Amino acid sequence: MSNSGSTSNELSKALDNHLNLVAAQQPNWPDQTALTHARETLAGLPPIVMAAEIETLKLRLASASQGKAFLLQGGDCAETFADATEERIRARVKTLLQMAVVLTYGASMPIIKMGRMAGQFAKPRTSDTETRDGLTLPAYRGDAVNGYDFNLESRTPDANRLVQAYNTSVASLNEIRTLTLGGYADLRLVQEWNQGFVKNPSNARYELMAKDIDKAIRFMAACGADFSELTTTEFYTSHEGLLFDYERPLTRIDEATGSIYDTSGHFIWIGERTRQIDGAHVDFFSRVKNPIGVKLGPDTKAANVVALAEKLDPNREPGRLTFISRMGASKIRDVLPQIIEGAKKAGITALWVTDPMHGNGITTKNGYKSRQFDDVMNEVQGFFEVHRELGTHPGGVHVELTGDDVTECLGGSEQIDEKTLESRYESLCDPRLNHTQSLELAFLVAEELAAR
Ligand code: PEP
Ligand code: MN
Repeated sequence: MSNSGSTSNELSKALDNHLNLVAAQQPNWPDQTALTHARETLAGLPPIVMAAEIETLKLRLASASQGKAFLLQGGDCAETFADATEERIRARVKTLLQMAVVLTYGASMPIIKMGRMAGQFAKPRTSDTETRDGLTLPAYRGDAVNGYDFNLESRTPDANRLVQAYNTSVASLNEIRTLTLGGYADLRLVQEWNQGFVKNPSNARYELMAKDIDKAIRFMAACGADFSELTTTEFYTSHEGLLFDYERPLTRIDEATGSIYDTSGHFIWIGERTRQIDGAHVDFFSRVKNPIGVKLGPDTKAANVVALAEKLDPNREPGRLTFISRMGASKIRDVLPQIIEGAKKAGITALWVTDPMHGNGITTKNGYKSRQFDDVMNEVQGFFEVHRELGTHPGGVHVELTGDDVTECLGGSEQIDEKTLESRYESLCDPRLNHTQSLELAFLVAEELAAR
C-alpha cells in the first residue's frame, strides 16, 4: 500500500476531483497548520486494513446480494475514545457474535459480521451549532473532530483528534482481531452465553430456539464436526466515510493490483446527509475499490438510487454496493418497494440492508432522544415483507447497539420506560439497543429469516 513519491501524484490525479465539489458536513478547522500536520501524519502511517481483506469482504457481500449470506452490521452511533477499552470492545464483539449465532441458525446461511467499530468517530449534524442556556457553540461532530463537553475549548475542532481517531481505531481493531482469532468466537462458548440470556424469565419466549441451536451443535459434534474450525471468525469494520481530512490520507494504492483502497476500514458508507449525486462524497467513493454503502431515507426515489448506482457501481460489480434503507416503521412498506423495483429494472445488483434505527427517532417527554424497540422491529418486519412480496433478497440488518446494559431505547423484554432512560443513558449521539435488546432483536430477525 503506497501513497508516497510518484504514487502520491497518481493518487491525486485519480482521487482529488472531490476538491472541486461541495463537501457537506465538514468541520471548520480553525488551525490550518495543525490540519496539514495531521493529514501528513496520517498519510505516513500504515493502512488500518488490507486490500485482500477488503476484497474478501466484497465476495461475502456479493454472496449476500444473491441470497446466500446475511449481513449483521452493528455498533455505536458514535464511538468514543473513552469507550475504546478492552472491556467495552469485548462486550460489543460478544454481543455481535451472540446475535450472529442466532441468525446463522435462523437463516441457515453464513452471517457476515461487521462492526460499526474501529473508525466510527465522525458524525454529520443537522445544525452546525448547539445552544444551551443562551450559549452557542459548535455542535459535537464526533471524537475525531471535537469534544462533547459543552465549553468553547472542547467544542472547537482540533485536527490532532484525527490522528487520535486513527490510533484508537488501530487499537480497537487489534482487540477485535485478538478476540475473534483467539478462541473468543468459539461456537460452543457463544451458545453458552445465549443460554444465559434465555434463562432470564423475560426472555423465555426464545428458549425453544436456543434449545434447537443446542441440539444442532450436539448433532454436529456427534457427526464429528471439527469445532477447531469454529473457534475463529471473520469480522469486518465499517464506519461512515464522512471526513475527507481522515479518509483521503488513508486512501492508498495497492501495489499488487494498482487499485485504490480507502484503508481506514473494510466497508465505508455514505450517510443520508452526504449522498448528493453531485457532491464530493459520492465522487470520492466512486473512485475507491472498497465495498461501500449508501443510506437511503424516506424521501428517496427510484431515480436517485439508479443515479447513485450508475456513479458508484457502473460495472455492477457483485458486492460493491449496498443500499441501507432507513425509512421509519410507518413508511418502509410504502417507500421501499418502488425503489427496489426501479433498481431491479435498471439491472442493479446491490445488496439491500435495513437500518431500522434512524427513521424511528423520538424525543421523550423527559428530553431523551430514544427509539421504541417495537418500532425498530416493525421496520425490520416491513423490510422482510417487502422483499417477500417482490421476490428479492433481504440482505442484512444495520443496527446501533452496545454490549452494555445501557437504557437508551424504550421497550424490549426488560420493558424500559421513559423514567428508566434516566438511569443509564450514555450515548453521545443516537440511542443504542443494549445487550439484551440486541439479542432479542436477533431472535426476532432469526424467526423472520427462518420464515422466508
Ligand atoms: C448514522 O448511521 O449514525 C447516521 C447518521 O445515519 P443516517 O446517515 O442514515 O442519518
Ligand atoms: Mn446514528
